Amino acid sequence: MTHVFDQEQLELRSAIRGFLAAEIEPIIDQHERDKTFPYEVLPKLAEFGYLGGWLAEDLGGLGISRVTWAMMMEELGSCWSSLRTMINISNGPIERLAVDANAEQRVKYLEPLLAGQAKVFNGITEPDVGSDVSSIKMRAELDGDEWVLNGAKMWITGGIWGDFGIVIARTFSPDCDGELSSFLIDKRETPFVAEAIDAMTLRCTGTALLTFNNVRIPKENLLGTPGGGLKATLSGLGVARVNIAAGAVGAAQRCLDLSIEYAKTRKQFGRPIASFQLIQKYLVDMKIRVDASRALCYAAASALDRGESGKMEGSIAKLYASQSAFEVADMAIQVHGAMGYSNEYPIARFFRDTRGGSIPEGTAEVQTLIIGRELTGIGAFK
Ligand SMILES: Cc1cc2nc3c(=O)[nH]c(=O)nc-3n(C[C@H](O)[C@H](O)[C@H](O)COP(=O)(O)OP(=O)(O)OC[C@H]3O[C@@H](n4cnc5c(N)ncnc54)[C@H](O)[C@@H]3O)c2cc1C
Repeated sequence: MTHVFDQEQLELRSAIRGFLAAEIEPIIDQHERDKTFPYEVLPKLAEFGYLGGWLAEDLGGLGISRVTWAMMMEELGSCWSSLRTMINISNGPIERLAVDANAEQRVKYLEPLLAGQAKVFNGITEPDVGSDVSSIKMRAELDGDEWVLNGAKMWITGGIWGDFGIVIARTFSPDCDGELSSFLIDKRETPFVAEAIDAMTLRCTGTALLTFNNVRIPKENLLGTPGGGLKATLSGLGVARVNIAAGAVGAAQRCLDLSIEYAKTRKQFGRPIASFQLIQKYLVDMKIRVDASRALCYAAASALDRGESGKMEGSIAKLYASQSAFEVADMAIQVHGAMGYSNEYPIARFFRDTRGGSIPEGTAEVQTLIIGRELTGIGAFK
């Protein structure tokens, strides 16, 4: 089953495919070896709408629908999961700044982001705080005209390179007694420590531990309402889940395509391995997972386009598609035999990177509990 795209969407998809094949595919291996990210490609991706293209035109976007956006993320996922992740992580701050930034902040931060000329991060998780976002420990205390930040953020995508980003912290001021708020922090003006974390998956995403010791930032860098940070953060995760699901669909489809091609050309016992029923069984199991994931993903994107919360649909899509993509990548390795282990071939990278999908933006267990809560009306988190 394939989502039915209109002519405009098909043309966009074709242009994106051409761009990724010509300009991204040839540079992936070197960046994977060096664990670097080609920020110089962002302005070109911005032209397709990858940076805030889903925003309304009066907010600086192109008014791209969530279904089109899912298609765009699927294409990135089929090419390079590190790139898909960096685009996903850039769109969170874009959403916050588009809503909450003042005029000066829009010019200084949002406009470069939309043009693909900024390096950004989004800091929620901490060394002691993962799934339970409500228990964040980082503190922001108002002192005169400045906030004083203390604490740490961990597993921060793009954190090692980011010039600025958004962190969520427990806020203490005459207006706020310990609730969570979002803060814009610019490393170039108010430096803090960023240390690289060497991770197995998504090697080109600059994952970092950020440490803030008495970092003073301007008072106007609190984004939105004091104490409104948790709600804003959780609402942003809903969209990010569909992005991860779509990326997982693309990665799984690529693993399936590569496996079919390999099975038809690799010969053993005097015939193509695709002629063995056990190999066909792998391909069929992969195909069913890809199609089911895609259907769930576009159902979630369509719900968002209808103006619904898409909470249940997004969690189902994220849970199923991210787990299925890893299963598909695993089966792809089996079909490829030893070739599947080679770092000279993309399957090994997809195997590593698809494993990353079940943890961020809410783990598989958290998605399960969200779906259970939506079904029963009873929360099972605590
Ligand atoms: C690739 C990647 C990129 C990331 N990028 C970012 C980023 O840019 N910014 C950022 O802020 N964070 C980022 N993260 C961190 C991510 O958001 C957290 O890893 C995630 O929220 C889970 O937190 P944790 O790893 O601390 O696991 P924990 O919350 O400690 O969970 C450990 C295990 O316990 C389970 N568990 C927890 N609570 C429950 C429960 N109530 N019931 C059942 N099981 C439960 C979990 O599902 C998991 O299996 C990233 C992580 C990854 C892997």
